[in-house]
Amino acid sequence: MNNSASVKRLVPLSKRNTGGNKTPLRVARPTLLETRDLQKSYYKKKLEIPVLRGVSMEIPENSFTAIVGKSGSGKSTLLHLLGTLDKPDQGEVWYQNQRIDNLPPSGREALRNNEFGLIFQFYHLLPELTMLENVLVPRMIGNGLISYWRNKRKFVAKAKELLETVGLAHRLKHKPNQLSGGEMQRAAIARALITEPKLLLADEPTGNLDSENGSDVLETLLHLNREHDLTIVMVTHDENIAKKADNVVKMVNGRIA
Ligand code: ADP
Ligand code: MG
Repeated sequence: MNNSASVKRLVPLSKRNTGGNKTPLRVARPTLLETRDLQKSYYKKKLEIPVLRGVSMEIPENSFTAIVGKSGSGKSTLLHLLGTLDKPDQGEVWYQNQRIDNLPPSGREALRNNEFGLIFQFYHLLPELTMLENVLVPRMIGNGLISYWRNKRKFVAKAKELLETVGLAHRLKHKPNQLSGGEMQRAAIARALITEPKLLLADEPTGNLDSENGSDVLETLLHLNREHDLTIVMVTHDENIAKKADNVVKMVNGRIA
């Protein structure tokens, strides 16, 4: 975890400015995350399949960015590179003015544990655990058992606060199979935020939901962005969802259209 020292620590969600004096949307915000000419190919046997063909983009702090585009256009690949889950063949990813795509595995892991939250189309909740326990899992894993038990009261309080923020205060002791898809996704959002990340990366989080549950999840994300200053990058198929974002990045054949 030594590499985490070089990554600037976050202001916890609860301590950030959530008051009424927020910066108006139109004022330029500093860049949180940036890609420079990202290129990535996959190989089938020896055949190169180019997936990203030079993607340069900037994600401003506290913004809500939607990445849209047809299936196969490279959206998930791009999101994985943003989250250091994978490495580009060429090009760079910068976070808070620090290059991150070339960090050693421990540095990338520290970023994913401390700075980034990730959610996917499927919720990946553990079926035997309650919602509260599911939300605590990243703390159990990331902190190690001794530190976890020392700080447990604080973590449990934070987990309850987050479940309340996503509208699940009444579901703390429920198991995943007792919840709707929208509720499970909102629990997955709370779990992604337990480590108090600055950036949430979401890959089609409403892709498996009906329109009502999908809009609950979207409203939750918009609330976290607007009221808790969470920066969000969300891959979506849904043009209506994209309309609510501050920025829309349209991917066509591995490039930004
Ligand atoms: P999207 O999320 O926009 O649907 P992806 O980024 O998942 O697109 O995939 C882009 C292209 O890369 C697709 O043609 C897909 O089949 C291919 N691809 C994605 N991941 C892999 C992989 N691990 N190995 C080989 N090909 C892949
Ligand atoms: Mg995808």
